[in-house]
Amino acid sequence: MCVLPNGNTLSDLFDYAQNRWGNQFDASEKKALNKILAEDLFGFKIIASSDVKNIRVSESEILQWMRSVKRVGAGEPVQYVTGKALFYGLVFTVNPSVLIPRPETEELVEIILGDHNESALHVMDFCTGSGCIPIALKHHRPNWKMEAVDISEDALKTAQTNAEKLHAEVTFYEADVLTGEGIPEGNWDILISNPPYVAINEKAQMEASVLHHEPHLALFVDDENPLLFYERIAEISPSRLNKNGCIYLELNPIYAESSEALFKRKGFETTLIKDLSGKFRFLKAVK
Ligand code: GLN
Repeated sequence: MCVLPNGNTLSDLFDYAQNRWGNQFDASEKKALNKILAEDLFGFKIIASSDVKNIRVSESEILQWMRSVKRVGAGEPVQYVTGKALFYGLVFTVNPSVLIPRPETEELVEIILGDHNESALHVMDFCTGSGCIPIALKHHRPNWKMEAVDISEDALKTAQTNAEKLHAEVTFYEADVLTGEGIPEGNWDILISNPPYVAINEKAQMEASVLHHEPHLALFVDDENPLLFYERIAEISPSRLNKNGCIYLELNPIYAESSEALFKRKGFETTLIKDLSGKFRFLKAVK
């Protein structure tokens, strides 16, 4: 029998994790991680801290807990350890083939929903990753025709799994946004993208857990041309958008103005939008 030093309740698991992580995380981070692990690994819903003393755990849960605590301690993002990430109120499956959906991207979804309540729109998402954007939108606008592309076959498998689990009808295509290969025919009312936008020279400022575990293909662009994806989108969108079509992009705030200039030059009506931390993180461009 596998036993923890004191007993086999959830509270003992929490104590085990606290000790094992030592001062690697501060007290509030440790508390939050314990809660995420208990909820996402075992499905416990912890409302009050007194609950944890009364929940008994099985031997296999203890073993799974120990393995997971070790992985989190080694710097792996907790969402990859549990395989789950919350985005816009929905639980998405994640793994290292996709970026963990970010709160900024939830803001992007919020902006699009706030701007559009037309019932039937044709929407395309470039570089969809886990599929979090089109799936979250489809939940709130069930009549929209949703399509999405990504270059990574593994990311697309994850996106497809998410669409099925979350009962969202989204059509995914394997395509290279930069060459145009694989992008389906048709014209869109809304084009969305959160493409790779972190320049290699920003690596030093990044958190180790992101740098060592999240997919570089989804994050990084060359220092020489950090706006590669935005240039390409500006180039193709005039002919692919319907009249009054809109583009919504997540941006690297460092390049907000130069990203905007690309679309101004093509005659779009542009607006830079700040994220909750006050940085210009989004661009809206209207044809
Ligand atoms: N917002 C992500 C980060 O800062 C980057 C996402 C992206 O490159 N599109 O880690």
